[in-house]
Amino acid sequence: MQDGKREIRSLLPGELEAEFSALGLPAYRAKQVFRWLCRGAGSFGEMTDLSKALRDTLEERYILRAPEILRKQESRDGTVKYLWRMRDGNAVESVVMRYRYGNTVCISSQVGCRQGCVFCASSGLGLVRDLSAGEMLEEVLYAERDSGAKLTGIVLMGIGEPLENYENVRRFLTLVNDPQGLNIGMRHISLSTCGLVPQIGQLAEEDLQLTLSVSLHAPDDETRKKLMPIARRYDVESLMAACGAYYEKTGRRISFEYAPIRGVNDSPEQMELLAQLMRRVHGHVNLIPLNRVPGSALEPGNARELAKRLSALGCNATVRRRLGADIDAACGQLRRKEAT
Ligand code: SAH
Repeated sequence: MQDGKREIRSLLPGELEAEFSALGLPAYRAKQVFRWLCRGAGSFGEMTDLSKALRDTLEERYILRAPEILRKQESRDGTVKYLWRMRDGNAVESVVMRYRYGNTVCISSQVGCRQGCVFCASSGLGLVRDLSAGEMLEEVLYAERDSGAKLTGIVLMGIGEPLENYENVRRFLTLVNDPQGLNIGMRHISLSTCGLVPQIGQLAEEDLQLTLSVSLHAPDDETRKKLMPIARRYDVESLMAACGAYYEKTGRRISFEYAPIRGVNDSPEQMELLAQLMRRVHGHVNLIPLNRVPGSALEPGNARELAKRLSALGCNATVRRRLGADIDAACGQLRRKEAT
C-alpha cells in the first residue's frame, strides 16, 4: 500500500478479474492486463492495446513500476548478478545462472534477513522488510529481460528467509506457475529455508511439487546452534521430524544444504551422524563450498572429500558447482558492499 494504492503485480488473475468486474470491465480485460504484467510492463502507458481512459483508471488505482538496476556484474562463465533498487529505495539481489539444461534465476525474498547465520553475508544488516509477490516477480521478469536469458527455473535462495514471508512467497509461486503468466512448473522451482519447522509443516499440507532445500550445516544441536540462531528455537530432532513428514506427504526428497567449515562441522563423527539423519528422512546432501565473507574467520572445509565420505556411508551427496566466483556471486555480497 502506498497513497492507498495497491500494487497491481501482486494480484492473482482471479483477484484482478474480480476487481475489474467491480469496475464494470469484462474478464478478458483482466486477462489482457495480467499478460502485460507478466511480460514485465513497467507502466500502464506501455499497455498499448488498452484505451487511454482505461490506462488512466488503472493509473489512479494501482501502483506499477519497474525496479532499476543499481549495479550489475557479469562473470566469465555467463553468470549475471543484479542489485535492484526497489520502489522505496531498498536494494535486493538476484543472480542469473546459465546451465546446459536451462537458465535459472536466484531471487531474494526479503530486504535483509533476521536469521543471523554466522557464515552468511546477509547477516549483520538485519531485516528491513518482506518483499511483495509482485516484487519477487519483478526480479524474475527484469533479470530475464536484461540478461536475455530465457529463464526455465527459479530458486528462492537469495537474500532473506522465504518461509518467514510465507504468504507473499506462496502468492509469488502461484503467479509464476500460472499458464497465462510465466508458466514455470513447480518442479522447476526450489525454495531454501533455514529450517522453520511450523512453516515446513504448512508447506507440506499444500503438497506442491517444488524442491525444498533445508539449510542444515550441522547434524548435532551443539554445532548447529553455534552457526544458526534458528537452531535454538528448533532442534535437529524436531527439524528432522518435520522433514520426514514433508517427504511422506509430498513424496519429494528434500535436499539438505551443508557448507563444510574446517574444524567445525566436518569431522568423521559428524559425517556419520549426517548420513544417519539422511537415511531417516530420505534426504540428500548438497555440499556448498563455503564462500568467504569479509571479516569472518571461518575456513572452508573440503567439500569433495566429504562428498566421497558420505557416499561411502551410503548417503547421496553432491557438491554444488560454483558459478560466478569471479564476481562474488554468493548472495548478499553486493548489497553488503553497497551498505558499507
Ligand atoms: N534463508 C534461506 C536462503 C538462504 S541462502 C536459507 O537459510 O536456506 C541459500 C543457501 O546458502 C543457504 O543454505 C545458506 O545457508 C547458504 N549460505 C549462506 N552463506 C553462505 C556462505 N558464506 N557459504 C556457503 N553457503 C552459504
